[in-house]
Amino acid sequence: MPTACIGIGSNLGDRLQNCRKALKLLEQRGIRIKAVSGAHVTKPWGGREVAGQPDFINMAAVVETDLAPMKLLQTLFQVENEMGRVRVRKWGPRIIDLDILLYGGEIIDQPGLKVPHPLMHEREFVLMPLAEIAPEAVHPVFKKTVRQLLEELSV
Ligand code: ADP
Ligand code: MG
Repeated sequence: MPTACIGIGSNLGDRLQNCRKALKLLEQRGIRIKAVSGAHVTKPWGGREVAGQPDFINMAAVVETDLAPMKLLQTLFQVENEMGRVRVRKWGPRIIDLDILLYGGEIIDQPGLKVPHPLMHEREFVLMPLAEIAPEAVHPVFKKTVRQLLEELSV
């Protein structure tokens, strides 16, 4: 069964509880949760910073699923919607954000789905939690492990 890495973030309401609930809802949809990182408190990034938003809690999960990448993304959207996420604007505050970071060793470049997530290698708040649970996972574009990508960020 394919293994994927999911990024989880929340900066509204009970942030830790939101992340945990998202994992539970994914599990209820048949996605097998193999590992979950600790919760990392991180500053808003990019456009989010300007808005003076609350800090995020970011986590990562390694999952196994028979869902093809696009189906997996749709399932992530369903969970986001079920939890009441409203897409107001890009990088706006969010009750939950679920992203596909890696899907096996696949490289996908479709209009609504890019895997590996196009900014994951630049984002400490993505790589730090992921490195806890999948340090040896390989980024198929850069052909580097998550551990290496994280190390290079701090250079
Ligand atoms: P963010 O970039 O902060 O996660 P959103 O969650 O609003 O922003 O996602 C914006 C769009 O990114 C979605 O409409 C989705 O189709 C697209 N997208 C492309 N690749 C991915 C991916 N790997 N994981 C999640 N969403 C993705
Ligand atoms: Mg997202």
